[in-house]
Amino acid sequence: MAAQEDAFAEARRRMVEEQIAARGVRDARVLEAMRSVPRHLFVPPKYAEWAYGDGPLPIGNGQTISQPYIVALMTELLEIPPQGARVLEIGTGSGYQTAILAHLAAEVFTIERHASLAAEAKARLRRLGLENVHFRVGDGTLGWPEHAPYDGILVTAAAPEVPPALPEQVRLGGHIVIPLGGRGGQTLERWTRREDDFERESIIPVAFVPLVGKQGWPET
Ligand code: SAM
Repeated sequence: MAAQEDAFAEARRRMVEEQIAARGVRDARVLEAMRSVPRHLFVPPKYAEWAYGDGPLPIGNGQTISQPYIVALMTELLEIPPQGARVLEIGTGSGYQTAILAHLAAEVFTIERHASLAAEAKARLRRLGLENVHFRVGDGTLGWPEHAPYDGILVTAAAPEVPPALPEQVRLGGHIVIPLGGRGGQTLERWTRREDDFERESIIPVAFVPLVGKQGWPET
């Protein structure tokens, strides 16, 4: 068992070096979080040996755990302040990205539309001793206004446009990181709240599962 844990830790170290730092993610806190969260505990056991590979994996309900590099990049783009930060995540999925955020923010609020995924994610994070995460089952396209404003909002599913409820839930200077585009492929974008408007940056092409909800895609 200990030998296997060592092998997973070594696989994580290589994942960070070869897939993440090598592609330009530099934030030391993000790299440290990616080195410490055991991704193999967030995938179905039959996929554990592929947990540190360079791609997404199925997690049930037709959903996926995102590629490690994309998780790291999206986290870096959020620029989470080192003290007292509050972050909203839409699309809990396996809870892997949530766990990374929980290492960097004081409080994480995460919403998932599939109750079974949310329950599994919650159990994983509790087992890992991550207590600073609040879970909600429901439509994340509406945000979670009761705890706004957030320092950052991370959307882990693809939307046709930024759901109109979200911009007002991010603080001045805070970021929304979101894949935007059609169902077949999107661009990862970062929107930063300025005094009168949002500054919009296109980052890289990505392929995410759809954000399904009132202010996202309709269910098919
Ligand atoms: N970051 C996750 C991880 O590390 O496992 C992967 C997230 S997966 C790519 C996208 C998730 O968004 C899915 O679990 C999906 O059910 C969820 N989702 C889609 N539309 C949603 C909505 N309107 N509200 C909340 N969750 C939603």
